Amino acid sequence: MMEIENLCLSVRKRAFERKAPKTPEHVGASWYNDDLTYNGVSKTLFIILPTPGCAWALGDSGGCTMCSYVSDCTLEKIDTETIIRIFNDHLSRFDIESEDRISVKLFASGSFLNPYELPIDARDEILKILVGMDNVCEIIVESRPEYVKEDVLDDIFSIIGDKLFEVSIGLETYNDYTRLNKINKGFTSKDFEKSVELIKSLRENKGYNIKSKAYIFVKPILLDEKESIDESIETAKYCEMIGVDRVSFCPATIHGGTLIERLWRKGAYQPPWIWSCIEIINTVRKEVNIPALLDTSGFGSRRGPYNCKKCNKELKHKIIDSNLTQDIISYDCECKNDWLAEVKNADMNQSKVKIKHLPLY
Ligand code: SF4
Ligand SMILES: [Zn+2]
Repeated sequence: MMEIENLCLSVRKRAFERKAPKTPEHVGASWYNDDLTYNGVSKTLFIILPTPGCAWALGDSGGCTMCSYVSDCTLEKIDTETIIRIFNDHLSRFDIESEDRISVKLFASGSFLNPYELPIDARDEILKILVGMDNVCEIIVESRPEYVKEDVLDDIFSIIGDKLFEVSIGLETYNDYTRLNKINKGFTSKDFEKSVELIKSLRENKGYNIKSKAYIFVKPILLDEKESIDESIETAKYCEMIGVDRVSFCPATIHGGTLIERLWRKGAYQPPWIWSCIEIINTVRKEVNIPALLDTSGFGSRRGPYNCKKCNKELKHKIIDSNLTQDIISYDCECKNDWLAEVKNADMNQSKVKIKHLPLY
């Protein structure tokens, strides 16, 4: 077993000892926002479905170095009735009927397409409920590549017909070495490419309205600021090249019970600057021709991407707006020079940690 897996496993074990698993009711969550869909901006309903937790994190690997989803799950099987009850409860919380068209994002804190995380009858029932709502135009789910299978997608499309279905996969980076050894993701670019190929071929040969999205993780452990900018941009280019339909950048935020948190506590890791995230998204919007989104969760907080107190908030809002318009973000602040100095010096001092960046609240 790889060293990184042993480390993740021991961090995960300690996290489980300190935190009780959640009840299905506590796992379930929802919110309602504007978001960019394949057909312009529209309301999007986000629902977190109760699940036992990601199979990869619950297995011998210990899961990914930055992910804490599994500590927000039940760790135990949930019966279909409970899942559907919680799903319906969240569905009824928002005034969806007044919208012409909405998009629904279903989060399973792991893989929606893995029947051991979300039972098939629960999955099918949820899809049937959504198909019964005429204004639901897009259904978006997440999965690891090993569960993106033709028979599973055939079953799903036999229910959803011509509704758009997007499978989001946490590729994180094009670089196999980083993905395997610094993120502990456990799959290769080849595995990812197979999933994207299958999605493309189902669209072309069976006429399914299916799309693929890649999540790209900004600043894994043991990458400096400059390396993480370059690797993120390269990853978006790679995604476009192999035929991914859109990308979404997820800049690192420190979650409890993860290896990244352990390094951060020791001063051996800092989340990226917001400037780095802006550099990435602006470059990708100029040089890559598929839609690119930038997730702002954790921005400006002690555990998230950070610039300075003066500009954190405003930049966060600018990014949220630009996700809808896909525009380039232009902005300036005094702290930009500190960021530039760090990016330029990264090679010289060989440090993976910011020298000057001290979030003090
Ligand atoms: S990032 Fe995805 S695959 Fe990795 S542990 Fe989290 S949910 Fe599982
Ligand atoms: Zn600033």
